[in-house]
Amino acid sequence: MGPSKAFVPLGGRPLVWWGLQALRRSPLVQEIILIVRAQDTDRARRLIAQGPAHLTEKVVVGGEERQASVLAGLEEVTPGTEVVLVHDAARPFLDQELIAACHQAALETGAALAAVPAADTVKWAPQGARVERTLDRGGIWLAQTPQAFRLPVLLEAYQAAGRDSFTGTDDAGLVERLGRPVALVPGRAHNIKITQPWDLQMAEHIAAELGLAPPGLRTGLGYDLHPLVPGRPLVLAGVRFDSPRGLAGHSDADVVAHAVTDALLGAAALGDIGQLFPDTDERYRGADSLELLAQATGRVREAGWAVLNVDAIVICQEPKVAPHAAQMRANLARALGASPEAVSIKGKTSEGLGFLGRGEAIACHAVAALYRTGIQP
Ligand code: MG
Repeated sequence: MGPSKAFVPLGGRPLVWWGLQALRRSPLVQEIILIVRAQDTDRARRLIAQGPAHLTEKVVVGGEERQASVLAGLEEVTPGTEVVLVHDAARPFLDQELIAACHQAALETGAALAAVPAADTVKWAPQGARVERTLDRGGIWLAQTPQAFRLPVLLEAYQAAGRDSFTGTDDAGLVERLGRPVALVPGRAHNIKITQPWDLQMAEHIAAELGLAPPGLRTGLGYDLHPLVPGRPLVLAGVRFDSPRGLAGHSDADVVAHAVTDALLGAAALGDIGQLFPDTDERYRGADSLELLAQATGRVREAGWAVLNVDAIVICQEPKVAPHAAQMRANLARALGASPEAVSIKGKTSEGLGFLGRGEAIACHAVAALYRTGIQP
């Protein structure tokens, strides 16, 4: 995920923004301390500059490891604070009920954490390669954040850990080792931690499902038309047709590839084929338009989008498109980095009417749908 994971975009917002917003909305929260890497302080300051006026928000530079980072934040907590809640910016789906439940449990018990029961069977294999035994899943809970503590409890736990040079993987663990009670609060299955690019894709879907962000889906429309002239090859979606006439144009004049390229660029709002590959540029004379489509797909992917599906209608009196549709779909799919099932090609005549019906030109309409991958350079 890269070093600045907290700032990768989710639903068009930095990942850390999501948890921050949930905390801002909670009536229980009086002060928020963002603990970030030194190189992220400017971005973090810009985030808190947009925060609500009734809250104190600070940015603190963390340490090399998680525990040192939390300690750096703890040192900035206003003395006399009753409960401190530690939350990981990599868990965007914090909700009000969970904040309130962790707060209440911390008041009652001194320490509490959100956790979910293990759904998978858990194997104990300390060497990695071979199972030693199967743990009783019934007793296994997977720790999430938030974790909430009465401030003196967590301060004491951190002091003890420092004294003993103990490093834990969560804050509750530091309290547990002192023999202090820690309460479990039912977490949320969707309170996922973003650790891999795949998690971010899942998070996009969760955000849409929870109604927190518009679905990461976009559509684009493409259209193209080229005149049919003698002495040119006829290339449609990379398939060379046996035809006495072909399409006139600067490149191979593949009207289908062009319409699909424009649909794709339109969906990503990246301009159009003429801007990307100008017909005044000699490099594109006789160009393989599937190659141009592949390049456009690369641009779209860099902008954080992947192809969901493409549908195209070729309008021509002849040749017949249907017998070649499978090959055309396969060619487009390869250029799009998609599966042929995600690509549809249909042929239509113009019932002999107009210039298309008279065979003076071939036209193509295309639509493309993209989904957000959430990964941007
Ligand atoms: Mg064209």
